[in-house]
Amino acid sequence: MIIVMQPDATDVEVAGVVQRLRSLGAEVSVSRDQGRTMVEGSVESLLQAESPWDSFPGVDHVVPQVRGGRRVGREFKSVDTVVTVGSVAIGAGPLVVIAGPCAVESLDQLLAAARAVKEGGAGILRGDAFKPRTSPYTFQGLGKAGLEMLAEARRLTGLPFVAEVLDPREVDLVSSYADMVRIGTRNMSNYPLLREVGRQDKPVLLKRGRGSTVAEWVDAAEYVHNEGNSDIVLVERGIRGFDSSARNTLDITAVPVAKALTHLPVMVDPSHAAGRKDLVAPLARAAVAVGADGVMVDVHPSPETALVDGAQALVPEEFRALMAELQAVARAVGRV
Ligand code: PEP
Ligand code: MN
Repeated sequence: MIIVMQPDATDVEVAGVVQRLRSLGAEVSVSRDQGRTMVEGSVESLLQAESPWDSFPGVDHVVPQVRGGRRVGREFKSVDTVVTVGSVAIGAGPLVVIAGPCAVESLDQLLAAARAVKEGGAGILRGDAFKPRTSPYTFQGLGKAGLEMLAEARRLTGLPFVAEVLDPREVDLVSSYADMVRIGTRNMSNYPLLREVGRQDKPVLLKRGRGSTVAEWVDAAEYVHNEGNSDIVLVERGIRGFDSSARNTLDITAVPVAKALTHLPVMVDPSHAAGRKDLVAPLARAAVAVGADGVMVDVHPSPETALVDGAQALVPEEFRALMAELQAVARAVGRV
């Protein structure tokens, strides 16, 4: 069962509930969601007992947990979760655009991209310091120096940034710089890493595994939520299909499916889905039309020199043009 505390419940009141549950033999976990603390106890039979919880200081109400249900599921919470990154709200209605280079290559490259995406209207900067590369002989990212450049780009542009984390041992490092941490497609089922990002307090952008079903993706989000971090945004980025005309097959169906199954915001990455830039705009338009809460787009000041994913990167003018198109689609489907 889940005990939902009043919005203004104090730490002492939360501790009182936790202590009482433990004394009854329950395993207890505490999480926070939209300013409210939830205390979950594993002892179902407690529900049968005459509800002593109402009289507990700070308790708002008790939810009998649906067996087999998930914390990220609609059965747990029917209202949409809004995830705030810096001052940008994802899932609140207005479309959110995350944009920037695939990888941080130098301060000049990053600042040129950051300024361009800011000017184009992006709300969040992307750029990785740790890259998951298929070949061990290709550029792996600048590491900590890349995170420092991202922090500098944030200082100069005001844009919060998201960066990928690859290794449970590097979660604290990435999280100490980034405004949001990203789990990439290759690590969607890396359960120790999911648990680790669930234990830090920055929001988590969780990409769908390239060979994963929507249900497996939702379970991955559950791993994060179970550790206490409920600020999770799902990203559809294409799955491996049989057709090689694009790098991946964008599963547009997954967007409304994931939104119906979970209360989490769902975004789309048309760049990594397509792998080539001529498909980025049409896929991004489809994402907005199908109800995604936002899109994440690769933008590079000179894609021909990019160390990673140059073929799919838009140049600043193309990004500006795309933003205008997305605004038109958003208006057409009643969004901002
Ligand atoms: C990325 O966004 O740079 C990336 C590596 O994406 P994915 O994990 O979806 O391949
Ligand atoms: Mn990439």
